[in-house]
Amino acid sequence: MDERQRALAAAHRAATGFFEGLDERAVWPRAGLDEMLAAFGGPMPDEGTDAEQVVTDLATRADPGLVAIPGGRFFGFVIGGTLPAALGADWLVSAWDQNSGSSTMTTAVVAMERTAGAWVCDLMGLPPAASVGFVTGAQMSNYVCLAAAQNSVLRGAGWDMARRGLRGAPPVRFIVGADRHGAVDRALRFAGVGTDEIIVVAADDEGRMLPGALADALTDGGADAPTVVCLQAGEVHSGAFDPFADLIPLARRHGAWVHVDGAFGLWAAATPGLRGLTAGVGEADSWSTDAHKTLNVPYDCGMAIVRDPADSTAMFHAGGDYLIHTSLDPWDVTPELSRRGRGVPAFAALRQLGRTGVAELVDRLHANARRLEAGLRQISGITLVNDVVYTQVMFRLDTDQATRGLGAAILADGTAALTGAQWRGRAVLRCSMSSWATTPDDIDRTVAAIARLTAAGDPPA
Ligand SMILES: *Cc1c(COP(=O)(O)O)cnc(C)c1O
Repeated sequence: MDERQRALAAAHRAATGFFEGLDERAVWPRAGLDEMLAAFGGPMPDEGTDAEQVVTDLATRADPGLVAIPGGRFFGFVIGGTLPAALGADWLVSAWDQNSGSSTMTTAVVAMERTAGAWVCDLMGLPPAASVGFVTGAQMSNYVCLAAAQNSVLRGAGWDMARRGLRGAPPVRFIVGADRHGAVDRALRFAGVGTDEIIVVAADDEGRMLPGALADALTDGGADAPTVVCLQAGEVHSGAFDPFADLIPLARRHGAWVHVDGAFGLWAAATPGLRGLTAGVGEADSWSTDAHKTLNVPYDCGMAIVRDPADSTAMFHAGGDYLIHTSLDPWDVTPELSRRGRGVPAFAALRQLGRTGVAELVDRLHANARRLEAGLRQISGITLVNDVVYTQVMFRLDTDQATRGLGAAILADGTAALTGAQWRGRAVLRCSMSSWATTPDDIDRTVAAIARLTAAGDPPA
């Protein structure tokens, strides 16, 4: 075998060993950063090491610092696992090493990405001619969409931002919900919009934007100003969806651009059982989503979807006379020039599942959330905090101190992993059902561990 084959064989052995141990492994890592820095740090070696040895050795040393995210009982943040076809395809992406910005050169990758983009628009009821830019995640896809939105509404007001910049431009109103994801403010910051400039609209108990409050914001001073309204499909704590069918027509009446952050929530549209949550969402102008969450492909697969491709290219078209421009090139709709073929695993995941399989996957994530909710309701001392409409379950104990204590005890126990947060001024624990690998047995083991740890906890102070 040549060196490449031996390195790949070593990676295959290490990956197989990791998967075989997943079910037994503590979900949270056993080693802290200091231990991992001790394992990997030290002075830069003068001499090189055999490639196979490097791969085997780094896998061995990494083991105690790995999180069991691909297993069935990681419920932290909102993170998916990796479907087998997506994993295999991801290995090929690295083997092929295609610089994927050009429709003329990297034709295989661009064809798979375009197809995956069109299939996702089909599944979600979005316009088939929309441009789909593959970026790292929803942080960047929100940025791409909001930057395209800003450029477009300024153009509508007679200001060519691409040429004249933002200094001296007419003011743009950015209207967002009180429970938007932090990625929205950060994306706006990248686009030159400060936090104090953002107009925040009140939300209800579940985090859904209130239509009356949006109507007020739209008619407040500067009603004729260019406006961008940012809505949300899937609140990161409660899983709630903004009422698009009420909100989007309101925004439209004021000529606003409507963007939807649907990192994990837009996938509800892919199943008849949950599609109602997204009713009206297809009327927006741009949508941001993550294939690495609900679709369960590896990281590095956000999708920035813009109704009119001219709006993405007006913002992101790539310069450079050595670039070949033919049909819509990937580098014309996102900030990157060189990048890996990150949409290929999404194509593979969609091929593995088919339309029926995607619907079943999303239904299963929801069913897991309902099963967890039912189990938690049986545990005395636990209060459920949200309506479990989708994949998110939020709960707490009587005091914030007890809730935080339980959160720490769950991570130390290792049966499952979930993460804490603040919601409406109280400490909560949040569980996100996002992995294809989670079984009903995983839910039952998690509920049993939480019951055991709650009973063992100190009585609330
Ligand atoms: C996860 C998430 C983001 C950020 O996505 P990344 O892929 O981590 O960049 C933004 N918005 C919402 C609603 C999310 O759930």
